[in-house]
Amino acid sequence: MEILIITGPPYSGKGTQCEVLKAQLNFEHISTGERCRLEKENGTEIGKVMSEYEEKGDLVPDLIMKDLFSKILDENKSNSGIILDGYPRTIAQVSDLLDLVESKGMKIGKVLNIDVPKSELLIRAENRAKTSERKDDKDTEIHKKRIEVFENSTRPAIEYMKSKINVLTFDGLGSIDVITERIKASL
Ligand code: AMP
Repeated sequence: MEILIITGPPYSGKGTQCEVLKAQLNFEHISTGERCRLEKENGTEIGKVMSEYEEKGDLVPDLIMKDLFSKILDENKSNSGIILDGYPRTIAQVSDLLDLVESKGMKIGKVLNIDVPKSELLIRAENRAKTSERKDDKDTEIHKKRIEVFENSTRPAIEYMKSKINVLTFDGLGSIDVITERIKASL
């Protein structure tokens, strides 16, 4: 099974691009944020813990995410590939990902990094808030917090990934179709 990783800040359009790409590549789209929300909807113990972090715009602890990611890999081992959206988000998660992928005999294809400036992210967050049911989408302070968490934890994780695997960075400004074309040209 091949793993295509999509990374970038919150509100950069990762989920949207994953939905377009999954149809074209015939890969499963796995969003770790969606998986956290599903655990909460199912009322599991771990879901309750996850939602405490999610609703404040914080990251769920690395060890919980490591278990979830390991489960995701096992569930998808007979698929041709997955597009991984939302993992890894910290330096420790990059190490966990590399260890787990190696120990399970899987491989990472490409890492696609969507780059969008903060001013545009805040505009997109406000737009998303109009239609989203997510608690963490409804509050401007949480939008800012999530972008700050990205800067403090995920941007360094992306830099660390660059030292380990090939990371391709894309300009995430423009229409959905234009960005899809930019990404497809590199695949
Ligand atoms: P997302 O749907 O990708 O925006 O993720 C929503 C929320 O789920 C995040 O703000 C975190 O609380 C949690 N989450 C998702 N993926 C991760 C991850 N890799 N590490 C920690 N928390 C995560």
